[in-house]
Amino acid sequence: MAELRFSALKEVFNREPVRIETSSKVISKYFGEDVFNLHKMEHYLSKEAFRVVKRAVDEGKSLTWQEAEQVAIGLKAWALERGVTHFTHWFHPLTDGTAEKHDSFLEAGDGGHIVENFSGAVLVQSEPDASSFPSGGIRNTFEARGYTAWDVSSPVFIVGSTLCIPTIFVSYTGEALDYKAPLLKALSALDKAAVAVCQYFDKDVTKVIATLGVEQEYFLIDEALFYARPDLVLADRTLMGHQSSKDQQLADHYFSSIPERVMCFIQDFEYTAHKLGIPVKTRHNEVAPNQFECAPLFEEVNLAVDHNQLLMDIMKRTARKHKFRVLLHEKPFAGINGSGKHNNWSMATNTGKNLLSPGKNPKTNLQFLTFLVNVIKAVHDSNELIRASVMNESNSWRLGGHEAPPAIISVFLGSYLLSILDDLSKKVTDRKMTPAQKTELKLGIGKIPEILLDNTDRNRTSPFAFTGNRFEFRAVGSSANCSAAMIALNSAVAYQLTKFKEEVDQIIKKGRNKDEAIFQVLKKYILESENVLFEGDNYSKEWHAEAARRKLCNIAGVPDSVKCYLTEGSRKVLVGSGIFTNKELESRVEVEYEKFTKKVQIEARVLGDLAINHIVPTAIKYMTSLIENVKGLKEVFPDDEFENLAGSRKELIVTLSDHINEIRRLVHDMVEERKKANVIEDEYKKAIAYEKKVKPYLDEIREHIDKLELIVDDEMWPLPKYRELLFTR
Ligand code: ADP
Ligand code: MG
Repeated sequence: MAELRFSALKEVFNREPVRIETSSKVISKYFGEDVFNLHKMEHYLSKEAFRVVKRAVDEGKSLTWQEAEQVAIGLKAWALERGVTHFTHWFHPLTDGTAEKHDSFLEAGDGGHIVENFSGAVLVQSEPDASSFPSGGIRNTFEARGYTAWDVSSPVFIVGSTLCIPTIFVSYTGEALDYKAPLLKALSALDKAAVAVCQYFDKDVTKVIATLGVEQEYFLIDEALFYARPDLVLADRTLMGHQSSKDQQLADHYFSSIPERVMCFIQDFEYTAHKLGIPVKTRHNEVAPNQFECAPLFEEVNLAVDHNQLLMDIMKRTARKHKFRVLLHEKPFAGINGSGKHNNWSMATNTGKNLLSPGKNPKTNLQFLTFLVNVIKAVHDSNELIRASVMNESNSWRLGGHEAPPAIISVFLGSYLLSILDDLSKKVTDRKMTPAQKTELKLGIGKIPEILLDNTDRNRTSPFAFTGNRFEFRAVGSSANCSAAMIALNSAVAYQLTKFKEEVDQIIKKGRNKDEAIFQVLKKYILESENVLFEGDNYSKEWHAEAARRKLCNIAGVPDSVKCYLTEGSRKVLVGSGIFTNKELESRVEVEYEKFTKKVQIEARVLGDLAINHIVPTAIKYMTSLIENVKGLKEVFPDDEFENLAGSRKELIVTLSDHINEIRRLVHDMVEERKKANVIEDEYKKAIAYEKKVKPYLDEIREHIDKLELIVDDEMWPLPKYRELLFTR
């Protein structure tokens, strides 16, 4: 067994960096080369077709089949020039990844010969037999047909020799089966609600887009070591492994120079990403050894989500070329930092204004405060929904840990803004304000510096932090499709802005002027959502106590967090605004329960297998060698000397035996609990059984294995150890 570990280590020692050639050193020369973007459309489409697509993109509309026919002609010409042979609709089912089913352009021509064809009909719509994707019971298998439809707002791209068409995925009866369809609805709801509020300040605003910049954290592990760890291969994380004597204590990995082999990998995937129009900008070593981060420039949310999904895919594929494996799991190693996917989020207008950036004068600053306070209120009111959107099995190992935001969603503002809001809530009175009072308020607001970036003391522990001109939603997991988080956040803010507009209009109707009405509602919101604001250390025990006093919701369990999608409040936001139907929402929650159960089940099976078939036999082998040794001592030494010599060895034999027995007992009990859970029909109850009855065994069993790792002969230990996984590359 141990041979695999040692041969893997030898392989790693002999690795050389795989250097890549780029077509040019100037990124802008090849940026977007593999994307059918507006620029290329202008070149390949007729004037009319180009106009139609551009309008569809701007207005968020889809194309008719006749219009699509025009586009397909140009698209095909471009694709064939680029050596493309196949096309696929590319979509985001409710699994963790993306999905594709390739078809070639081949068709039988009239004369019986084969021709290349690509019609508008297949561009805009396709019917993959996608009956095996999770649907939470929306589709019975006998009516399994779902169809995919082109999302014109996300451009078509080429991977290898395949043309990829970003699409939504819906059931035959129209229910969403993916992340993209509801995301587009949420973004459109936000657009509408935010534009309406912007009208108070600027009549030129006709469109508001949500923006997203995703910081992606990941680990890299050498391929040979990866294959020697069945837990990494099957469960994406290590289910055992004693902490390395040195890991991240010295913070000497953070921002240190990127190792050459890793650098070659990064340059390689960045090159591919840039050609695909993904604006990757930042790269650095993260805190944990072998942990890294990359971040693109922010983009419109739907595009940023597509790009992040594509980027994760590119990273995984490129890693293989470099004999690495990318671990996107939130907590691949116990005891050291996990990985997140910080979602930097804001809203921008067609007039070029970032709505979460303070402006140059009192008017723009009142607009800034309006959006800021509404976001805070949305996070306060939809607290449970926002947590539900980031909670899942893999992220549950990270959330609430010592390096990640806890399961309490609070908002960090920084002392400066906090004092501004405090001031506002004190100065605004319910009585009609005098002109002098109003002037004073506006003057105060006018002083907010345009660039708050340097003033916001960074609070790294907050799950939802204001960072000067955007919010950073940090609780999102590194392997997640950001759509879930973005659907929740954008829907909550859209819902909130709509309510705000109604309340302000009500007050205006009663004869107050606009600014005063806005001030009053803002004051009310500040007071109502005060308890979600927290400036301190979110990792501390005190915060948990304080949050309980504030009656903030704190659910660390996954099924119960997910269940919050179905509260009255969440339904109001999601169903009330038309993002989901009740049926869609309920089925989505079923899918989440099922995913949770299955993931714990896989981990439990893998751990059981490793424990019984790898670790216990190794421990027995080592124990046997000790017994032989003790027997030998007995033969060689007289009784009194023997006792002296063999005492500690005998103790070791007993310790080994205890751990072996405990592991066997625990694995047996865990299997029994699984059997009981497996017959539960209700998906929520089953998930709860897996969480409460099965999941705890994972840590208990591991504890014994990790202790064994410390005492068993290193020569015999079958799996690469943490120090090897984390420091060899
Ligand atoms: P940090 O210092 O938090 O590690 P990074 O530079 O790694 O920050 O990433 C910050 C991310 O925030 C980038 O993706 C950046 O484009 C994004 N960002 C900046 N401004 C906005 C904005 N207005 N809306 C959304 N994202 C933004
Ligand atoms: Mg960063």
